[in-house]
Amino acid sequence: MRTRIALLLGIVLVAGACAGPGGGGAGSPSVAPKTFAAGSSMAAIVAKGKLVCGVKFDVIAFGFKNPTTGEIEGLDADLCRELAKELGVSAELTEAVSKNRIPFLKEDKVDLIISTFTANEERRKEVDFSHVYYKAGQSILVKKESTVQKVEDLVGKKVCTGEGSTSEKNLRAKGVTDLLLFQTYTEGAQALVDGRCEAVSTDDSILFGLAKQFPGTELRGTLFSDEPLAIGIKKGRTDLVEFVNGVLEAMKADGRLKALYDKHIKPFTGKDVEVPF
Ligand code: GLU
Repeated sequence: MRTRIALLLGIVLVAGACAGPGGGGAGSPSVAPKTFAAGSSMAAIVAKGKLVCGVKFDVIAFGFKNPTTGEIEGLDADLCRELAKELGVSAELTEAVSKNRIPFLKEDKVDLIISTFTANEERRKEVDFSHVYYKAGQSILVKKESTVQKVEDLVGKKVCTGEGSTSEKNLRAKGVTDLLLFQTYTEGAQALVDGRCEAVSTDDSILFGLAKQFPGTELRGTLFSDEPLAIGIKKGRTDLVEFVNGVLEAMKADGRLKALYDKHIKPFTGKDVEVPF
């Protein structure tokens, strides 16, 4: 009897250890794999045993690799974990920078892109999107001593932003064309601090994290674009779009979505996030 209890305890302990937060790698599912229609996108993911999500690794509040724990933290990372849980599989988080996002979906390198990804008409020609889960807008980050107040003040000046982002396009449309493009926004903020550009410009929701990481910088001006963030899915996987939307709706209904906003976004904005769908 004692051995059986010890054995059972061992199993529970091992299971407990595996169920811990998975960092960049796979975290074990907390529920058994679920059954989905044969041939569906979800059945293929269950057969693989893991849901692979492309997320940012350097964006505080959305997808950020904690340097101490190695854990990927943030709203995007946790959305992946919730979706994996609903499938009954592990969540595997892989880094997807702005310009990799559409290729990663097309080449089946990931199942989902949850990487501060703006849903827009141009991108809809190439990929599908879930419901919008966060409404961001473009802003600017400058050094506190800068005289730049708004995006218009940046015409003729060098500005840092992410390659392959809507931020890059929006700046050009505003006549800000002298751009220093980076794979990650952290590199852009470092360039700002080093004096290689006058401002970093992208989603306000990325900039508020950078302002915290890089003291001596601050956001300025009003938002000059709409950036509705949504989960990217390979074109044609409509069953997966429906599944993801169903999970998002359930998370809205039972408060899980609000809990994630409160955990990851509210500390920066001080405001409740309204669910945008
Ligand atoms: N949300 C915008 C985009 O999808 C800018 C931020 C980013 O590059 O992730 O392009």
